[in-house]
Amino acid sequence: MFRTSHKLSALALALLSCAAQAQSLPEEASRAAQLRATAEGLARAFPGLSLDSKEHTYELRRVAVDEDGAKHVHLDRRINGLRAIGADLIVQTDRFGNLATMHRSATMLPTAALPARATFNATRAWRLVADAHPGGTVNKNPEQVIWAREDQPRLAWEVLVSGEAADGTPYEKHVIVDATTGQRLDAWDDIHTAAVNGTGRTLFSGNVTLTTNSITGGYELRDPSRGGTYTINMANGTSGGTIFKDADNIWGNNATSDTASAAADAQYGTAVTWDYYKNVHGRTGIANDGRGAYNRVHYSSRYNNAYWSDSCFCMTYGDGDGTTFRPLVALDVAGHEMTHGVTSRTAGLIYSGESGGLNEATSDIMGTMVEFYAANANDPGDYLIGEKISVGGGALRSMVKPSSDGASADCWYSGVGNLDVHYSSGVANHFFFLLAEGTNSSYGNSPTCVAGNTRVATGSGSLTGIGRNAAAKIWYRALTTKFTSSTTYAQARAATIAAAQELAATLGADYSAKVAAAWSAVGRN
Ligand SMILES: [Zn+2]
Repeated sequence: MFRTSHKLSALALALLSCAAQAQSLPEEASRAAQLRATAEGLARAFPGLSLDSKEHTYELRRVAVDEDGAKHVHLDRRINGLRAIGADLIVQTDRFGNLATMHRSATMLPTAALPARATFNATRAWRLVADAHPGGTVNKNPEQVIWAREDQPRLAWEVLVSGEAADGTPYEKHVIVDATTGQRLDAWDDIHTAAVNGTGRTLFSGNVTLTTNSITGGYELRDPSRGGTYTINMANGTSGGTIFKDADNIWGNNATSDTASAAADAQYGTAVTWDYYKNVHGRTGIANDGRGAYNRVHYSSRYNNAYWSDSCFCMTYGDGDGTTFRPLVALDVAGHEMTHGVTSRTAGLIYSGESGGLNEATSDIMGTMVEFYAANANDPGDYLIGEKISVGGGALRSMVKPSSDGASADCWYSGVGNLDVHYSSGVANHFFFLLAEGTNSSYGNSPTCVAGNTRVATGSGSLTGIGRNAAAKIWYRALTTKFTSSTTYAQARAATIAAAQELAATLGADYSAKVAAAWSAVGRN
């Protein structure tokens, strides 16, 4: 759209009445009517500026008055009695009422010859829009309008349709259909997916910036900049749920007394995970299709878990029972669960045996990387999983020394695949830590495995790390280009060695020998 502006500041053309004192409502109304009439008079007097024609009429949209008394009278235009979309006009006067300028967008050709009747009727227009919006609700009484956004005004139908897009974003569209040809001339959406910055007052990550969506009357917890990711409140139920909305765009109060606090954590976790995969691995969304997942918080009652579901393409978070767990919405949990979605859309590692351990480890590795990526002082990066959500302190799992949970394996051994996948994952978690940080780092000392070690490593080998970012690049490449549904630990060793070789140029060094050494250090030669 473009705007034409015609300056006539030197010419004193007309006088708008200008009462200075406070006025009663009837006086306001009569003054508005006067302003409208005067502005219309100017529009009629200067058709070269207004593009006025005798079949045009004008209605007052609004008046803005500057501090210096200048007025901007915004007029809507009707043509042959029909609302003329795009043909509105602003008549600007100085404080003395002299015409200063007019603003309009339309560049209308003469409108006298517009057809009087629609040959493409309302029902056909309705059907055209309905066919293009399966599942949408279409207003069956389209309004006949003049569409005047381009040079040639046209007799048209304005058809309103509302519904939900595939990613869950609602729409309320205006579709303009030519009433002569049936051509779709224009369309716009009243749901402005206007990304705005709000504040999340989270339970675990302090106060964070959340990108939210500006809607009529406030905001909703939906991020148009990250695939439309949104968070719904299950209100302790197990089905349904409604999107979080808020008047001031400040979400939660850093405590469970406000249900939006956990929602802020979840939305934040999703955003950071999105950014990590996109900015570090070039992956846009869990499925790499630009689509955001959604979160369900306050699921069920005292629910002690969080999970990813492929079928809903969504994350579900319980509030915890308050004895074992707090709400399970911490950053590494979010990164862990969403990574299950990445794994299911890449390697598809089956969730049992050694591939199940690799699946779980992939989530622990990437959840940890997400936590580091966030660089949030309230939840700094570490190689612990779930350290924020345990009521008694401590973590669910450790990558430094997986056996510290009393169940996970530090070392590979024949039969490790018989463990629960959350414990057989210890081998790969341990591998990743040794590859990234080495045996001795600020995150702790990580013993290596020697012959006969299973759950607890007792070796004192010494390794230096290659850095977690390089290690994560290697893991991600193996996951997305080499792991299959039934990859074993032996195959994971070969796959990561190959990935390290392929990434040598990218990473500035061939880390394949380091990768091999780290596998050997967890007993997988
Ligand atoms: Zn998991």
